Amino acid sequence: MIRSKKFSIILGFICLSVFCLSTVVAYANVYPAKWSSSKVSNGKLGLTYNYDYVNSGSISSSEVTNGIQSWLNIGANFFTAEAAYWNADVLFRELNYTQWSLNGWPQTTTAWTQPIAGSKACSTDGSINICTSSDTITLAAVYINTAQLPGLFGGSKRQALIAHELGHAIGVAHHTFLSQNSIMWADVWNNSRFSYTPTSADAGDVNSLYHP
Ligand SMILES: [Zn+2]
Repeated sequence: MIRSKKFSIILGFICLSVFCLSTVVAYANVYPAKWSSSKVSNGKLGLTYNYDYVNSGSISSSEVTNGIQSWLNIGANFFTAEAAYWNADVLFRELNYTQWSLNGWPQTTTAWTQPIAGSKACSTDGSINICTSSDTITLAAVYINTAQLPGLFGGSKRQALIAHELGHAIGVAHHTFLSQNSIMWADVWNNSRFSYTPTSADAGDVNSLYHP
């Protein structure tokens, strides 16, 4: 288990990608792959998280946890708890300018999420999602570009950034319904429909995945 997670994380680092392109699904803004039904308890998806490596000081612990907790109490069938690094389902990690550049990612990208199904990274470049409905997400790595954070965003934006990426980690794609407010809009800061916290529309997307 530990070994496969290590392998997966390495894969995540190698991939040149922004896992942020929306996949068109008939009724909801969700990715084809989702977490195992073994993660669903009492009708709710439960994922553990860890942010030991969000430690540059560019984003506070409360901004991280508030972003995560903002998915609760909105009607989404989702709950979460903190776990040790090697046991967590969703790993939040900061990368500094050098690390981000070494991976070949654009410096203007603030964050991206890599869902991983076993040893398979779901996103191999910015335009392809290779995971399908037959894949089960086993780990999700959320990478945060610290070069984009200090002095650039207020705390509410950093919190929203965490919540947006967690949405991807859960299995939600970018929002496409023009009439709805959502935290999952792609061009977040420039979209008038962007919400700084998840909305009932986002809850509906989670529920369509895990509690249809
Ligand atoms: Zn996104």
